[in-house]
Amino acid sequence: MPPDLGIPNSDSALGGSGTAPAEPWANPLETALWCAAQGWPVHPLAPGRKTPAPNCADCRDRPHPAQECPCIPAGHWCHGFHAATTDPSVLTAWWRRQPRFGVGVSCGPAGLVVIDVDAHPAPLPTPDRLLPGIHIPDSVCLDGLRHGFHSLAVLAALRGRPDPAQDGTTLRVRTPSGGLHVWYTTRPGQEWRCSTGSGASRALAWQVDIRSHGGYIIAPGTRTVSGRYTALDGARRPAPLPGWLGAELERTGHRPVPPGPRGGSPTPVPSRARAAVVAARGGRDSAARALATVLAAVTECAAVPQGAGFTEKLNRAAFTAGGLVGAGRMAADAAEAALMAAATHARPGQERRCLAIIRSGMGAGSRRPLDLGERR
Ligand SMILES: [Zn+2]
Ligand SMILES: [Zn+2]
Repeated sequence: MPPDLGIPNSDSALGGSGTAPAEPWANPLETALWCAAQGWPVHPLAPGRKTPAPNCADCRDRPHPAQECPCIPAGHWCHGFHAATTDPSVLTAWWRRQPRFGVGVSCGPAGLVVIDVDAHPAPLPTPDRLLPGIHIPDSVCLDGLRHGFHSLAVLAALRGRPDPAQDGTTLRVRTPSGGLHVWYTTRPGQEWRCSTGSGASRALAWQVDIRSHGGYIIAPGTRTVSGRYTALDGARRPAPLPGWLGAELERTGHRPVPPGPRGGSPTPVPSRARAAVVAARGGRDSAARALATVLAAVTECAAVPQGAGFTEKLNRAAFTAGGLVGAGRMAADAAEAALMAAATHARPGQERRCLAIIRSGMGAGSRRPLDLGERR
């Protein structure tokens, strides 16, 4: 008999829709101060947006590592989560300047790991990408599986554990797009890396992202143009990460990168990045060559940790890939995988940022199908 995976529908999955008790986050400044009081470093988000408040002109026009930025010690918010602080006087000054800033929490230094469940209806991925590393027996019926709530529920069911999306013992925040952030604390000394569940690198489950070191999460109470991040009934503070989820994160490669030398010598392009370039071939060598050329510019940034124009090169590569996809010369999935492999090789630990650049670049490029100047 096929196991009952109890795939919930996304509405009932979140528990009652009753009115929540009074929240400690009445306005953005109070939210920021409340987060800081939990020991969570906070940084501002552009009003109404999910993205960090913009850098100053210097930091925008002359890219440099956050570690070398004079703005941050001077109390400016440049470099997104790198500027996050728990200092109430700095936070008060920031939100006095712009009361409509949203609130971002820098997950890693806060000792947080957040399970970010998406609810975007999308075609099912191939079975190996649904729960990477887990063989789903044919006897398991996946009918009705449509988004991240389902893939996470299937993972929990296969492990015989409660569904984290239903975990009322921890802080859960409903996102404006119908997704859910399940907040957990890490143990002292325990670190996790970010991932995107639909990306090409490590992933816990399809449409389930992990936010931790190298990423930030939007605080409850924050409002964007799409709506409000609203805490669900239940706990208002994160509970410790359940042991079984920790084991799953470990299994899926979310352990931290061991501190290692990142010297100036060129590192070889890993086979995964090369394989992705090959996989990106849509059967037409001119398309593969066009992509390989721009991808090479991205991977070469690995040798230059700063000032390499990485963002611009990745954006250009994504735009080119989008153009090839738009022209029907390449599959979007394969192109995205190739771009992510090249990007994570050049800038490990920045998957989230890279994926955003890739998606926006590919989106723009796909509206301008690339004519490679040959007869078809
Ligand atoms: Zn600056
Ligand atoms: Zn700077």
